[in-house]
Amino acid sequence: MKVKQLCINSYKPPVQSQNWAQSLFLNLYRCNSQQISRHLHRLKVNNVVKGGQSFIFGEEKVGLAVGVKGSCYNAGGEVVRKARQYGFGTVVLTQNELNIKETSQVISGLIQANYKYKLLGDVAQEKQQSDENNDQYTYISDLHVQENIFEDPYFQQLVQLAQIKLYARDLANTRQEGTPQFFVNEVKTLFKDNPNVEIKILEGQQLQESQLNLFYAVGQGSIHPPTLINLTYRGNKDSQHLHALVGKGITFDTGGLHLKSYGNMETMHLDKSGACNVLAAFKGAVDLKLKVNVTVTLGMAENAISNTAYKPSNIFRSHKGLTVEINNTDAEGRLVLADCLSWTQATHNPTSILEISTLTGACAAALGENTGGLFSNNDELSQELLEIGKELQEPFWRLPVTDEHKDMMKGQFADLCNIGKAKVCGASKAAAFLFNFVDEKTPFAHLDIAGPMDSKADKGIHPPGATGFGTQVLLKYLVNKQE
Ligand SMILES: [Zn+2]
Repeated sequence: MKVKQLCINSYKPPVQSQNWAQSLFLNLYRCNSQQISRHLHRLKVNNVVKGGQSFIFGEEKVGLAVGVKGSCYNAGGEVVRKARQYGFGTVVLTQNELNIKETSQVISGLIQANYKYKLLGDVAQEKQQSDENNDQYTYISDLHVQENIFEDPYFQQLVQLAQIKLYARDLANTRQEGTPQFFVNEVKTLFKDNPNVEIKILEGQQLQESQLNLFYAVGQGSIHPPTLINLTYRGNKDSQHLHALVGKGITFDTGGLHLKSYGNMETMHLDKSGACNVLAAFKGAVDLKLKVNVTVTLGMAENAISNTAYKPSNIFRSHKGLTVEINNTDAEGRLVLADCLSWTQATHNPTSILEISTLTGACAAALGENTGGLFSNNDELSQELLEIGKELQEPFWRLPVTDEHKDMMKGQFADLCNIGKAKVCGASKAAAFLFNFVDEKTPFAHLDIAGPMDSKADKGIHPPGATGFGTQVLLKYLVNKQE
């Protein structure tokens, strides 16, 4: 969707002067239900639709007024669904009672809800052809806003953040074509000719040669070799600081020999969402030429079953040197991440580390589909991320890592085990395991997005499929770290 500047303050002139016949004129009000009734009366419209936390009414495909109450982002989502229902491809923001911050959030929600995953690979062509006619006005292609809004830095930033989040969804929604090699090709296409970006790839046995044995073990059963992708962007050569992002990229998680059951495996192409969000945030930092140094590590592997798959009871020496016994092959994300975290520190000695992963069903059970779990060794970092998440409607909730959790992850025959015997506090146990692989003095946050990684319904700011939840938080964090 293109966001454009509208050079008028009222919708009357362009109705005559331009071809606005297919445009939806959007009016935004800050209202409760009594106030919206008064607006309705004044505008002489009927057809009242109450949707979510906004109240919407239309006048024969001419205008849509939204009384925003509650989440501005969700109000933007309602606009999209209404525009789709009426068949509008262009939205023009005309009357607006909201302030810049609220308006920006409505438009951000609109961009986020106005998304549809386009198929890739062999299946794409046929499907796209049949879709083309239907799609013409199904999705909003142009959005026009007034000059004072368009030029506002807060508005510009929210639009940029929302658009980069859509790229994260494109990556996460890939199906069988979304292999580790796909991601290698993607980063080469994006950054090969960019002198400010350094690309490092460790593929297959190169992982073993570099002692990333946990990472290699997870991917050793797949025909797609496990691959570490590391990208470094130096946007501020005068600064000593380097911020690290690490993402879990399990391109498909069968569970391994502890095979997942029917009902638990169907969305496991999304188990790479953490890495996809990290790659998108990195692309955002490069595209926006942020004055920040950032290194990102994507741990890409398929957790498959085959005669070469790793097995329960196996014991591996990690990149850090700690030994780990495998009690459950479905607790594979933490193994990949453990090696990615210690490799990233050994290679780059970063100032701070944010790691994001669809790590535990336990976190989803605790916090639901709209909130991520946050675990950190640093109160200040934790507070910063909670505040960013709240503002961008990607909220996180801090959960603890205690000595009790750390004890549960001690191994019987090795230093650590990968799941622990007690069937409790799975999210905190996974975080406790990861804490072993991070230098205590480095501010570190682990973001568990297993709950909000996907949307089952077309609701709020999310169409069905990958949400990209957390992408904006990562990118906004980097924006804030500019010096
Ligand atoms: Zn798993």
